[in-house]
Amino acid sequence: MGKPTGFLDYKRAERPVTDPVQRTEDFAEFHGELSLAERQIQGARCMNCGVPFCQSEYGCPLHNLVPEWNDEVFNSNWNHALDRLLKTNNFPEFTGRVCPALCESACVCGLYRDSPISVRDNELAIIEHAYEAGLIEPRIPEVRTGRQVAVVGSGPAGLAAADQLNRRGHSVTVLERDDRVGGLLMYGIPNMKLDKSVVDRRIRRMETEGVTFVTGVDGAAIAERLLREYDAVVLCCGARNARDVAVENREAAGVHQALEYLTESTRAVLAGRESDISARGKNVIVIGNGDTATDCVATAIRQGAVSVRQLVRKPAAGPAPRNWPHHVRSSAPDYGQEEAIAKFGADPRLYETVAKKLLTDKTGALTAVVVDTAGQEQTLPAELLLIAAGFTGAETSAAEAFGLALDSRGRLGDSGYRTANQKVFTAGDMRRGASLVVTAIAEGRACAKAVDEYLEGYTNL
Ligand SMILES: Cc1cc2nc3c(=O)[nH]c(=O)nc-3n(C[C@H](O)[C@H](O)[C@H](O)COP(=O)(O)OP(=O)(O)OC[C@H]3O[C@@H](n4cnc5c(N)ncnc54)[C@H](O)[C@@H]3O)c2cc1C
Repeated sequence: MGKPTGFLDYKRAERPVTDPVQRTEDFAEFHGELSLAERQIQGARCMNCGVPFCQSEYGCPLHNLVPEWNDEVFNSNWNHALDRLLKTNNFPEFTGRVCPALCESACVCGLYRDSPISVRDNELAIIEHAYEAGLIEPRIPEVRTGRQVAVVGSGPAGLAAADQLNRRGHSVTVLERDDRVGGLLMYGIPNMKLDKSVVDRRIRRMETEGVTFVTGVDGAAIAERLLREYDAVVLCCGARNARDVAVENREAAGVHQALEYLTESTRAVLAGRESDISARGKNVIVIGNGDTATDCVATAIRQGAVSVRQLVRKPAAGPAPRNWPHHVRSSAPDYGQEEAIAKFGADPRLYETVAKKLLTDKTGALTAVVVDTAGQEQTLPAELLLIAAGFTGAETSAAEAFGLALDSRGRLGDSGYRTANQKVFTAGDMRRGASLVVTAIAEGRACAKAVDEYLEGYTNL
């Protein structure tokens, strides 16, 4: 521990953020970075408290060695910090950007003036500094085992499983149905939260290290071939069954599922064209109150919506009481709501409000939504309605193609990573239901262990 009194001497400092109105002018990431000297001070705040809940099951599904790399940051040992970080996390550049930082909720220093260590920002600084300083060497396995593994689905779970298995010397092919690799990291989480060049940079590195990626292939359609030609198959197809809402006139034109909308928006951003489902000049209503709904709000504002409202079924909750060391979801405005407040002057969230009926013009296009707020009806103008009501589990097609069944909650697999077919494994949202990027990476790593043990009879992963 470099600076025993660091947490008393220094205040928490976060990365600078672009003004909420200014940042809605494009889809670029909107966080800056502290200088390396300022970052060292943030590392010095870590108390190495002796009870590092930050790396426990509550604080980090990956069990990141947080106090160790904070200390290395304080001492400016950036290569050692990187070494400790990569021991547990394959992709800190993703979690450093999008993780809700369960570690900071679990931080002991957070109990002191509500001022936890800036763990997530420190993590991001370590990995980005490493890329800039050329500290990231391709890790190409010296020996190949001759075993072939197919990974179906290229989200964070599939990527983590592939990365681990490749390092072990197995030959890994990742099959992705979409036209780009990354799962929800690519099409789902918007560019301003995670720039797509960051995903591509990692994929290129994995290719250099020996992983093969094939896009535009539905693994379910070639299940028999995969079972015949590969020694093991890992299914990481996500939990992509979107929950719908029961509302009169649901079939109106201008109503879209959030993921369909966000995917098309990212495709358009990457192609430098207008989105086919655009909010430009429209009144937009988003149903839902999670991260996906926030991403829809922020995307609609960037596309040029004239108003954005969010329908939230539950009553407004005050600040949730701390439940240390557990993470508590905050009801404070997230980045999308902050932008709506700055742009339109009011929080977009309408609490205790549900959509009852959609009104359309003669062509069937949406013109307004009749909503019910605690028994009171009103009609809100809307030309675009986005449904962000959560996910009900995995699609059945991939599981069925491999002769497997999902459980009643749409998940594959029970407690372990192996399915009823001994050479088929599963991980990520497909196994445990919709969760987080950090959980998906942890799942992919654990699954790789199970696959390696099956192939080799033991594992050193
Ligand atoms: C809009 C949105 C925003 C989110 N924001 C955050 C956030 O800020 N922070 C956070 O931690 N988590 C966030 N999440 C959750 C997080 O993205 C997921 O938990 C995580 O991506 C799950 O990883 P996965 O690999 O299991 O599945 P996914 O990322 O869903 O990847 C599954 C992949 O499998 C492919 N696939 C499916 N079927 C087949 C098939 N038959 N053949 C071939 N390929 C197939 C899909 O095309 C997809 O690429 C968000 C989720 C959404 C929807």
